[in-house]
Amino acid sequence: VHRLAYTDVEAEARRLLLDWAYARGYTAALDDIGNMFIRRPGGDAAAAPVLSGSHMDSQPKGGKYDGIYGVLAAFEVLEALDDAGIRTKRPIEVAVWAAEEGGSRYLQGCMGSQVYVDPGKLESMQRNVDAQGVSVADAVRAFRAKLPDLPKRALNAPVSHFIEGHIEQGPILQATGNTIGVVTGIQGARYFQVDVVGDAAHAGTTPPSQRKDAVKAAAAMITALHQMMQDDSDVVRFTIGHLDVTPNAMAVVPGQVGFTIDFRHPDEAFLTRMGDLFQAVCDEHAGPCSVKVTQVRRGALIKFEGLVPDTIHDASTRLGYRTMRIMSGAGHDARYLAGVCPTGMIFVPCDKGISHNEVEAATPADLAAGARVLAEVLVALAQS
Ligand SMILES: [Zn+2]
Repeated sequence: VHRLAYTDVEAEARRLLLDWAYARGYTAALDDIGNMFIRRPGGDAAAAPVLSGSHMDSQPKGGKYDGIYGVLAAFEVLEALDDAGIRTKRPIEVAVWAAEEGGSRYLQGCMGSQVYVDPGKLESMQRNVDAQGVSVADAVRAFRAKLPDLPKRALNAPVSHFIEGHIEQGPILQATGNTIGVVTGIQGARYFQVDVVGDAAHAGTTPPSQRKDAVKAAAAMITALHQMMQDDSDVVRFTIGHLDVTPNAMAVVPGQVGFTIDFRHPDEAFLTRMGDLFQAVCDEHAGPCSVKVTQVRRGALIKFEGLVPDTIHDASTRLGYRTMRIMSGAGHDARYLAGVCPTGMIFVPCDKGISHNEVEAATPADLAAGARVLAEVLVALAQS
């Protein structure tokens, strides 16, 4: 699946879902950042809706389940409620959050859910541009033009609860033989940009004593950082996944290197302590170059507690599924919704924990189990 945020392919996917929604008589709306909502009315039209969903965009050459599973599971619940003749007090809405995988196009993830809960972020988000120079504002405008029948919906409209179904994207459920993961929270994360500056020079004429080789310095820093992050308990998540070399030419001593650090851990104190050492470690290995470590963003540890996870746990055990509580290693839209309403997530196993990869796989039985639990939870919450 190669369905990047706001592209024609994503619009086509949204269109297909809308066709199914209209056939059931549901209404739909689109907000200013491209989040889409499909609504099954409740008995109390004034009551805030229960939301459930995830995202339809994917990473480049991503998997078939990441995101879209949570959207289709929620939609399946709406249809099942119709078929079973169940009415709820609150409306239930399928939420399709925009640009959850926006990082692959705009170096920023969960764009839609972030703006939904904090409309003050809309303008700065709209100014982001992709590698082709297309701004988010222009991408959303073009996207809306492909879905012209959708009325506008206000950002930050009240939500009573949010539940996101998702594949685990990790190996724990499968390895422990569990079918349902009741997500207890999302681990904290710190994201850094490291800029190493040396001097570009001729590769054939410049003697070693006069070089300021930014790749040589960056390589030493990266090795040292990885050594520092070595973790026998297997909990630390430390990734240097993006490098820019300037001028990136074979016959030129590299003058500049930029690299990213993605650092996640369930213990906030550890994230603080270790992340605060990055500048010193890089300085120590910079040689004749200079280096600046900048924290781009920090995502706090989010805990899902109380009614929503407890309702998920009760429903899953009542249905007879092997159930465990589990911390999410990956970020999700639920991270942001947790700031405005009681929130929870349902994880189902994915094969070997592989995700953001074409081989991503999950079994029909596990996916159906997650949808059944979701149905129980949505009905319980929509009657409250
Ligand atoms: Zn996802």
